[in-house]
Amino acid sequence: MAGLDDLPPLRDALAAHGLAAKKSFGQHFLLDLNITRKIARLAQLPEGARVVEVGPGPGGLTRALLETGARVTAVEKDERFRPLLEQVVAASGALTLVLADALAVDEAELTGGEAGHVVSNLPYNVGTPLLIKWLTGPWTPASMTLMFQKEVARRIVAAPGDSDYGRLAVVAQATSDAEIVMDVPARAFTPPPKVDSAVVRLTPRLDRPEPKRLEALQTLTAAAFGQRRKMLRASLKGVGGDLLLEGAGLDPQARAETIDVAGFLRLADAWLARG
Ligand code: SAM
Repeated sequence: MAGLDDLPPLRDALAAHGLAAKKSFGQHFLLDLNITRKIARLAQLPEGARVVEVGPGPGGLTRALLETGARVTAVEKDERFRPLLEQVVAASGALTLVLADALAVDEAELTGGEAGHVVSNLPYNVGTPLLIKWLTGPWTPASMTLMFQKEVARRIVAAPGDSDYGRLAVVAQATSDAEIVMDVPARAFTPPPKVDSAVVRLTPRLDRPEPKRLEALQTLTAAAFGQRRKMLRASLKGVGGDLLLEGAGLDPQARAETIDVAGFLRLADAWLARG
């Protein structure tokens, strides 16, 4: 029986199926197996891991994940890739293909109740909403190894006082431990995007805030960073202002960008306690 090693090189597979990248689907492919194998290694998957990959496209990262012995469920929105990916399904035996919008799928159903790891070279246009879904939604991945535009990667790992520090950093770091594990230059992709990228590895925290606390955190960070140049007293006026800040032990004259994640969590608790 033909195996993964018998699959044609990715460029040949794309050409054989007459496939060109579509901008509307955020398609920038990784055709260099050295890079896809490195991403698969950085994912630090346990033996026989259950992996959800968003946007397999031509299947380079998919092949690298399958080589590690992972069982992969790949969710692809672009129907054009079906015939190409079905060849990978036939060659591997450990790949399940789901033609769907990743924003709409129920990952718990896809993983059949098993712990699942997400590994993906994310489409730029839906990268942040997908991350928010995995950080705050009902299904929590065991780990996430995700390619983002570098600027988004920096916003995920930013610390208080950094110019990139904002809502995304607070929500990401309240729910997970996050670090940039690889920089990837634009030229590594086909076609190359306008900006460089980076791989971020996120491990959900055991003390992840429960849904109500997370909801409060999202409301308050939206208000605080919506007017990031203003003092918290002013930016939080509509949601409780001084009283809330006093409850959280925060200086009303401080600005959102100086408040650490623990400070925002105290603010969320004060908001929930206000009754
Ligand atoms: N994994 C491939 C690689 O590394 O070469 C392709 C990565 S490309 C940046 C993003 C992929 O996500 C494309 O295949 C695109 O069609 C797919 N995609 C875009 N939006 C999607 C969505 N909402 N749900 C699932 N897949 C999506």
